[in-house]
Amino acid sequence: MPKFSDISLILKSKGLFSLNMQYNKTHAAVCGLFCPACTVFIATQEDPKRLEVLAKQFGITIDEMKCYGCRSEKRIPYCDTCKMYPCAQEKGVDFCGECDNYPCEEIKNFQAAGAHRFELWEDQNYLKNEGFDKWMEKKIAYYSCSDCGIINSAYDFKCRSCGSKSSNQYVLKHGKNIIKFLAKHGTKLK
Ligand code: SF4
Ligand code: SF4
Ligand SMILES: [Zn+2]
Repeated sequence: MPKFSDISLILKSKGLFSLNMQYNKTHAAVCGLFCPACTVFIATQEDPKRLEVLAKQFGITIDEMKCYGCRSEKRIPYCDTCKMYPCAQEKGVDFCGECDNYPCEEIKNFQAAGAHRFELWEDQNYLKNEGFDKWMEKKIAYYSCSDCGIINSAYDFKCRSCGSKSSNQYVLKHGKNIIKFLAKHGTKLK
C-alpha cells in the first residue's frame, strides 16, 4: 500500500493530478474541508481568470483573494477571521473532530452556511477514525473528474478542463441540493 506522498506522485505520473504540487496537512482544513477542491485554492494555483472574477465578486484585490490552504501563511480574508483555526491550535488538535467540545456552535454554524460543507461531519469522522493519509487519498479521488482526472470544486458542475458532467463525485451526489442552497442563500466561499 503506497503512502500518501507516493500516491500524489503516481497520480501525477498518470496525468491524473491537475495541480503541480504535493498535498500535505497545509491543504487539509481544521474544519474538515479539502482545500484542493476549494474554488479559491484552484483559482490561486492554476486559474488566474477565476481568481480575477472571484476578487471582483468579493470586492478585494487579486492578491488578497489568493489562498494557499487552511494552514498556510496566506489565506483569504474570510479564513483569516476564522475562529476554528486558532481554537484548534489552542486546544492542540489537528482537526475539530478530535476536540472534546466537538461539534461546538462555531463549527455547526459554519457547516450550515455553505453548499460545499454538506459532508463535513462525515469528513471529521473519517479523519478521526482512518487518519489523514487515507482521508487525503480518498478526497483526491472523490473530487477528481471521472473523465480526465482534474480536481474540481463543489461548484464546478462541468469539469473545468474537459467539460464532463462527471466533474466530481460531490457534485454528482449533491448537485440538486447545491443548486437549491445557492438559490436560497447565494454564493459562499470556502
Ligand atoms: S474556515 Fe477556518 S478552518 Fe476552515 S479552511 Fe478556513 S481557516 Fe481553515
Ligand atoms: S471548540 Fe469547536 S472550533 Fe474549537 S477545536 Fe473544538 S470543535 Fe473546533
Ligand atoms: Zn474532466
